[in-house]
Amino acid sequence: MVALAADTISFREEVENLLLAEEGASLVRCIQCATCTAVCPAAEFMDHTPRELIGLINAGMKDEVMASNSFWTCASCYACSEKCPEGIHPADVMYALARYSLWRGTFDRDWVAPDFSRRFARTILRTGKSYEPGYAPAFIFEGGFPGMVREMRMAMRLMSKGRLPLIPARIKRIRNLRAMVARVLPLDGLE
Ligand code: SF4
Ligand code: SF4
Repeated sequence: MVALAADTISFREEVENLLLAEEGASLVRCIQCATCTAVCPAAEFMDHTPRELIGLINAGMKDEVMASNSFWTCASCYACSEKCPEGIHPADVMYALARYSLWRGTFDRDWVAPDFSRRFARTILRTGKSYEPGYAPAFIFEGGFPGMVREMRMAMRLMSKGRLPLIPARIKRIRNLRAMVARVLPLDGLE
């Protein structure tokens, strides 16, 4: 892990400091072979393929990287990390950039994935439990009126079978959970 003063740190070092996993080689080892892109099932939907994204990070193109939809399109399949011949973990880079984007509030407000992620993280930080109805506003209007009706029917069915609670559950001592999370993640942008 790189530790430098914030004003001297490069964008690559900034991203590497966000990689919470201890495994994975430094991004400087990327040889631009495109193996990660070849195995990525989501590459065609990304503004920048995994190879391009790593190249842009190494080139210090921060604005372009942070404006990309790539890390919000990642399906977290880890194929890229499995196959990279240099031991880089592009999947962890995708997670790191998503966290960074939430933290800094740089994501496009019209995108479903960051809105969903932020609602999920906030719910966990407030209650310690997942509460699906709280995430619905992030996607329920995406399918237009028919999609909304479909989602509501599904919710009613789940509720009738006791699979969807009306009121969110809450764990005891939520403060302890928040303190634990705060030790590894900045909570700015999530609260
Ligand atoms: S597979 Fe690894 S070395 Fe090849 S382009 Fe992707 S990150 Fe770089
Ligand atoms: S983890 Fe993400 S970037 Fe990597 S191959 Fe899977 S979808 Fe693509």
